[in-house]
Amino acid sequence: MEHIENDNKYEGLAVNKGVAQPPAVNPYLNKIRKVRRRQYTAAEYTEHILKGDITVLSQAVTLVESNLPDHQILAQEVIEKCLPYAGSSVRVGITGVPGSGKSTSIDAFGLHVLKKGGKLAVLAIDPSSELSKGSILGDKTRMEKLSVADNAFIRPSPSAGSLGGVARKTRETIVLCEAAGFDNIFVETVGVGQSETAVHSMVDFFLLIQLAGTGDELQGIKRGIMEMADGIVINKADGSNIEKAKLAQAHFRNALHLFPPTPSGWIPQVLTYSGYYEIGIGEVWNMIDEYIAFVKKNGYFEHKRQEQAKYWMLETINDQLKSHFYQNSEIVSLLQEKENRVLHSIQSPFTAAKEVLDFYFGKIL
Ligand code: GDP
Repeated sequence: MEHIENDNKYEGLAVNKGVAQPPAVNPYLNKIRKVRRRQYTAAEYTEHILKGDITVLSQAVTLVESNLPDHQILAQEVIEKCLPYAGSSVRVGITGVPGSGKSTSIDAFGLHVLKKGGKLAVLAIDPSSELSKGSILGDKTRMEKLSVADNAFIRPSPSAGSLGGVARKTRETIVLCEAAGFDNIFVETVGVGQSETAVHSMVDFFLLIQLAGTGDELQGIKRGIMEMADGIVINKADGSNIEKAKLAQAHFRNALHLFPPTPSGWIPQVLTYSGYYEIGIGEVWNMIDEYIAFVKKNGYFEHKRQEQAKYWMLETINDQLKSHFYQNSEIVSLLQEKENRVLHSIQSPFTAAKEVLDFYFGKIL
């Protein structure tokens, strides 16, 4: 309805029509959306990665980490295309309990490696990130110097899925990084669970960071982890801690003597260093260089890489088989039914399992 005040004949104050309420959504947003980058093809991804384009490398890693079927198909194509250009890096796994100084050490080791030339990618495997909904490893902010260094690429742990899934994605990311010219790869893992085994199955050298000073250094360390280590390094050997670190070094050396010889023929070494004060970093790295030269000469380097490739093929088959089985809707309901029978002691777990499997194989074969 018109206000009578707006009539030309009205002598009093005129009322303005007012300003229209602006739309809640920015009308330019649509235009911005339209100009968004189109999805690269696998060939385009590969071309950019081979040129060392970090932005496209990051995007490709995101694709690898995605669980969307379309992304997975594209990611596999990119990996396949990059594979012929991969493999020529030195891959080092680094593990240690939280607080042992992994990030401080990786900062120091990383800068040492970069000083010699080349490029470094720091990846991480952190299965706990699924629970905490955030990665505690491989975070850029934890490695202050490396995060601003040229030629360094830091990528947090993939967060989705089981340990096997997370590890496979990191394994695939290694391929992309190598194709992009990264000739040093660090894979960091938190030294508390099974993730060490996963890291061990994708690196050439496995470095275990330890701390001294508790007097019971050998306690709480899983024998299996020590057995996997090609080198044990005792961090924080600085100030008043030096003596304790030396003592721990002797303990570890003695303990290692009790282990069977390693398949590589290499005798694992125990060194002390300080990541924070950058003492002994060169020595740790000389040990790794020495190991690589040793296993390249005796053929173990190539042998281990081949074994690892086989391992990942079988792991992937295991993964796919399992998900095919457990995602089948008929299997889901049959399992539920059998579970009830087993819980009520109507059927034994073994015949129940056999019947479910027989049904499954009857369907697919
Ligand atoms: P992470 O949890 O294994 O990544 O360990 P951080 O690198 O975050 O280190 C844990 C704590 O130990 C931090 O407060 C560091 O400053 C300290 N730290 C790390 N390396 C050294 C070292 O070489 N000497 C000393 N004295 N402290 C260190």
